[in-house]
Amino acid sequence: MPGDVTVVDHPLVQHKLTELRRKETESPVFRRTLREISFLLAYEATRDLGLTTTAIETPLAAFDAPTLAEDWPVLVSILRAGNALLDGMMELMPEAPVGHIGLYREPETLVAVEYYCKLPEPLAGRRVVVVDPMLATGNSAVAAVDRIKENGADDIRFVSVLAAPEGIDHLSASHPDIGIYTAAVDERLDEHGYIVPGLGDAGDRIFGTK
Ligand code: URA
Repeated sequence: MPGDVTVVDHPLVQHKLTELRRKETESPVFRRTLREISFLLAYEATRDLGLTTTAIETPLAAFDAPTLAEDWPVLVSILRAGNALLDGMMELMPEAPVGHIGLYREPETLVAVEYYCKLPEPLAGRRVVVVDPMLATGNSAVAAVDRIKENGADDIRFVSVLAAPEGIDHLSASHPDIGIYTAAVDERLDEHGYIVPGLGDAGDRIFGTK
């Protein structure tokens, strides 16, 4: 597999991913399950954050306790489906500043078109975790990472629940320096740019639209 790709094959993640894939899974359970998976994916995407020690007192003793050496990561959601992963990550890291990038796919060309961007500053020197449940063509991911780098970011991780080989190739060819985290790499994209077998349209399944 090209680039820096981590497939999070933890049994809990895989079991929950199967719930997401089932076509019978309704929006409330779909949302809740994505939120649960987001904790486990965030755990992997942040496992190499630096630690230092801080002098604290427990009820029993003084202790040099581990604390984060760096600022909290910045979370960036690719609208709209990214928000379901963002919700869980914000719960896990309430101190994290949050950005949003709105992109839609041109239905004919599948090109990503930006309609909204609001990012925290500064991004340089901070871990930035970009979330979008589906890494399909990679067009949105590449456009989002382009924009985030334009704003100074130099340590970016991309977190998805499902990825297509095409999306991984595109993102790692355009941005070989970023780490990609996903729960599974599926077989292929169909002619409409959907991941197969996949889980359908993540935004529709999260928000109950068609
Ligand atoms: N976006 C989705 O929501 N699903 C796919 O399969 C591909 C892109």
